[in-house]
Amino acid sequence: MKINVHAHVFNFRSILTKETILLLKHRLTGLNIPAPFRDVILSYLRTRRRRKTSDLSLDDFYRTIRGLGAFNILVPRPVRNLFDHHLEISSSIEGEQMLMSLLESALVDRGSVSSSSVINIFDWLRIGLMKNINDVTDDLMTHMDDDDVAVLLPMDIIDRKAGKKERSLFLKQLEDTEKQALRYPGRMLPFAMVNPVRNNSFEIFKKSIDSGACVGLKLYPSLGYSIEHSTVQKALKYCNDQSVPVLLHGNDKGFRKSKKDAAFCNPKYWVPVLDELKNLKVCFGHFGGETQDGKETWTKAIIPDDSWAMAILRLMENYPGRVFGDLSFHTDHWEDDTKGENYLSNIQTVLKDDRYKTQVLWGTDFHLLRMASTDRDFTQKFNEMLGATNFNRIANENPVHFLGLPATGKKEEKNISRHVEWLIENKASTVYGTPASWLMEHERVDREAFNSWILSASGSWSINNLVHRSLFQFFWTPQDVPEYLHAGARRSINNQFATVEEKFEAIGMLSLAELTYFSHGPSSPVLDNQKMRGFCKDIMFWFRRKTNAEHIGPQDDNILYSKLQQTAGQSDKRISDIAGIVSGFFRFPVI
Ligand SMILES: [Zn+2]
Repeated sequence: MKINVHAHVFNFRSILTKETILLLKHRLTGLNIPAPFRDVILSYLRTRRRRKTSDLSLDDFYRTIRGLGAFNILVPRPVRNLFDHHLEISSSIEGEQMLMSLLESALVDRGSVSSSSVINIFDWLRIGLMKNINDVTDDLMTHMDDDDVAVLLPMDIIDRKAGKKERSLFLKQLEDTEKQALRYPGRMLPFAMVNPVRNNSFEIFKKSIDSGACVGLKLYPSLGYSIEHSTVQKALKYCNDQSVPVLLHGNDKGFRKSKKDAAFCNPKYWVPVLDELKNLKVCFGHFGGETQDGKETWTKAIIPDDSWAMAILRLMENYPGRVFGDLSFHTDHWEDDTKGENYLSNIQTVLKDDRYKTQVLWGTDFHLLRMASTDRDFTQKFNEMLGATNFNRIANENPVHFLGLPATGKKEEKNISRHVEWLIENKASTVYGTPASWLMEHERVDREAFNSWILSASGSWSINNLVHRSLFQFFWTPQDVPEYLHAGARRSINNQFATVEEKFEAIGMLSLAELTYFSHGPSSPVLDNQKMRGFCKDIMFWFRRKTNAEHIGPQDDNILYSKLQQTAGQSDKRISDIAGIVSGFFRFPVI
């Protein structure tokens, strides 16, 4: 179980206020994207906010930006013509991907950016423009392994002049974020937020904590408030009494209006708080930042003494077990070897030191991280860099303590007990994968209640499962789809097994290397990517069009498609693994 303490699942639609666009402008400046493209993104969001439409989507994005002057600066005429041609076709995954490729190539051709950073920005945009928070969460799930857990941090971005409509956006966002915990029990842990610009901010926060829906508090001082504000102080006292951990944005970048606002994140403000509230736990997101005031910190040979990073380390020493720092969005150290070596040596020093080592946490900053990397790549790099023992420490042992989750020989904290009750009361049931193992092992969770669900979602290959039976037909008696079994495999199954039941069992155990999109080279199977993608689409087509299966689980086609692709390309997986995925998305009506 890996615990990501820093993830976001809001989409543009749920945070689209005047203030957000202003802050996004700051956020996107300095990133490795061409200025005209940044302008195109911002003017699209401005147009959509003014028209007060809730129709934000990638397709709408393409159609709208075509009419913007900046588009002509960005895209040369021949590409424009191709673009128009594709716009005429009604929206589909293929169409959207084609338009994306055209824009990507136009941007890369302008020479100023690498194709990988263009792809990253588009992927970030794709996630931000998803229809709802469910879809964003489902996308996050494709980056997580079975039993991984993510903390979901909401964002309340409004200015003082915000009207009723803008103010209501956050309430909806919070409600939708809480729902994710019901869709993935124990795997998605929502935090609540306070922002003193909102009059009843404390009451909203308190309600989410009391109900058990949220297990922590998120603060974002660089939105322009001090933690000394009476509303924040009241919330912190409440966290102290109710065993609620706090995570605040803790570098001088991110969503901020000015340098002055960023300074509200300074760790020094926490000394009196930690002195007074003896039970309070706080995590500084981004661990003070890899840079501060544009100067390197974590990537320097020695972390500067006057940096926030150092201030946080001192707090850790003075308040053992209560002050944490997370490594989310730490990507600067990839820029060159010296930075990489310095960063690694600093982190290793911290992880060797008894004063700090139990207080470092792992986080990714999904989906904002997507501007620079996928969650999987980011995670894998940290895992390789730190080694299994240290990675397990920051991604499991330490966050278990920070969040108050149950550990061996130790009962969970109050915030988690309330959350478990809330999940039971609200009949949580997972749409994909299995509930978290920590939850399944909890004494309050009735195994029976979850069992029926787990059986249908597991990858275990069973002739009693109608989805599996249908998948068997897809391979054994294909109609309107290509033959995906190698002739040799079919022959050998026919020779060895007489009954349908036996053949069914054999197909389930068959390695994917026996499918036609793998050809057999001299030593190992060779994957034909193009054909493999066709295979994934055919499976979707089969369950959608050829059978009367009902669609369950994530509704966004991209989620199923990418899940299938991840597995289908691996020659050591079996057909039963494909069945496990499909079972999370389709169900046959019970007769
Ligand atoms: Zn963040």
